[in-house]
Amino acid sequence: MIRTRRALDGIPRYVPGKSAESVAAEHELAEAVKLASNEAPFGPLPAAIEAAAATLATANRYPDNGAVDLVDALAARNGVAPEQVLVGNGSVQLCQHLFFTTIEPGDEAVFGWPSFEAYPIQAQQADAVMVRVPLRDHTYDLPAMADALTERTRLVFVCTPNNPTGTVVSRAAVDDFLAAVPDDCLVVFDEAYREFVTDPDTPDGIDLVATHPNVLVLRTFSKAYGLAALRVGYAIAQPEVIEAVRKLHVPFEVNAVAQAAALASLGAEAEMRARVAVVVAERERMYAALVQRGMPVVPSQANFLWLEVPDTAVELALHGERLGVVKRSFADVGVRVTIGTAAENDRVLDVLDSARSAGLI
Ligand code: PMP
Repeated sequence: MIRTRRALDGIPRYVPGKSAESVAAEHELAEAVKLASNEAPFGPLPAAIEAAAATLATANRYPDNGAVDLVDALAARNGVAPEQVLVGNGSVQLCQHLFFTTIEPGDEAVFGWPSFEAYPIQAQQADAVMVRVPLRDHTYDLPAMADALTERTRLVFVCTPNNPTGTVVSRAAVDDFLAAVPDDCLVVFDEAYREFVTDPDTPDGIDLVATHPNVLVLRTFSKAYGLAALRVGYAIAQPEVIEAVRKLHVPFEVNAVAQAAALASLGAEAEMRARVAVVVAERERMYAALVQRGMPVVPSQANFLWLEVPDTAVELALHGERLGVVKRSFADVGVRVTIGTAAENDRVLDVLDSARSAGLI
């Protein structure tokens, strides 16, 4: 057996949401719907499909290593310089780069919990000491995170809206928190679900970059833009921060089809916004329906809802799978369900009603 780094011992495997096909086969159903990975219910924007298809004809050539056209478009869209933008193979790969940019073995990475399940895995890969700060009212508890900072803290994640609870941090809490973080500690605002936010009291991470040289924002084309399979995410920060993270860049990290589709998607902003509005309206309809039923649902600013069912999380998810609705369970905490089409969401309501009859909610 080869000898491997001790830091890798005991790293859990990332468990993705089950596919609709595998759940249908497992439970011998004609079909199932996957609402377990916070994907868009729509396909990619038509312009993105066209651009991606056209790019396949030159797939014998390597992609543009610097993704210059996409970076320029993202910079223009977000009012920053191109030197402030870095694209990656999904924002999850950029997350990994951030650990390897900042952490010496034994340094501390602070994040809320429960939160995005890749953070602990990547922290261990990088040999970071993880400091997981419990959420308060399902939300990142920034005062408690400020208290958790030590001289070994090099990296902090603020996931807003938080996966899996859908909550956002307030402007006042962020201002106080950033004032408490030392300048040499990187604060990452993971805004994978930013496009779905309607609460005016949550800051836009990109505005914070202008005033805080240690802030980096992560965004993605996987959710609102419906390009999850193509894997494009981006980071925005001050040029010095981006230059440091770029050292982790894997050659040709973002493939040409993905670059083209992301660029074309940026050109179809109004269509994306219209689709997001549909998802947000469905989110609010579902939230109201669950509240009306007295179910333990948390108000969400993302494209999913969180049910706090610590005693029955795993059974509730299994119950849904048997009825062809794939959700995501977090053992002993709760269940997350992605907002789908209106028909899919109605099906979720039926599943939850029957779960309640079965005593699972
Ligand atoms: N951050 C958060 C909070 C997420 O929920 C996800 C996806 N589940 C990601 C980052 C990664 O998304 P991607 O790699 O597809 O950009």
